[in-house]
Amino acid sequence: MYTRIDHTVRGVYLLWLWLPDPQTIQVGALGSHHFSVGYYAYVGSAQNGLLHRLRRHGKQTKPLRWHIDYLRVHAELTTVHAAPVGPEWECRLAAALRRQPNATVPVPGFGSSDCRCVSHLVYFKEVPSVMCRPQLIWPELIVLPPNDLQ
Ligand SMILES: [Zn+2]
Repeated sequence: MYTRIDHTVRGVYLLWLWLPDPQTIQVGALGSHHFSVGYYAYVGSAQNGLLHRLRRHGKQTKPLRWHIDYLRVHAELTTVHAAPVGPEWECRLAAALRRQPNATVPVPGFGSSDCRCVSHLVYFKEVPSVMCRPQLIWPELIVLPPNDLQ
């Protein structure tokens, strides 16, 4: 079920976060936004080392740098998917995610300051089937063992 990666792997990733309580969160320069209880999927790219980046996302307390860091403070990281592909796939993965049934964009501009996407963060009120079966989006997506990210 899980696939291990080493420090040399680069690629794009998909973080699944669970927000147990509704929150109003200041998201850096994007300002203050309301976040409902539910599942949040975030797409990023780590072309200098996937494992290092994912371990950073694994930490709840750290200097807040990216938009996702502000949400991560309040949310649990439940699942991580990744694929060893180039940066051009980051926005394609975000687009595929936004097309999933019941997907909504909670904060326009979230994680997409450097591209033309409406957002790299997608919200689902209930567990979407792609969270358990990422192959529904891409056959290349693997599931990383949560313990490797601590
Ligand atoms: Zn994008």
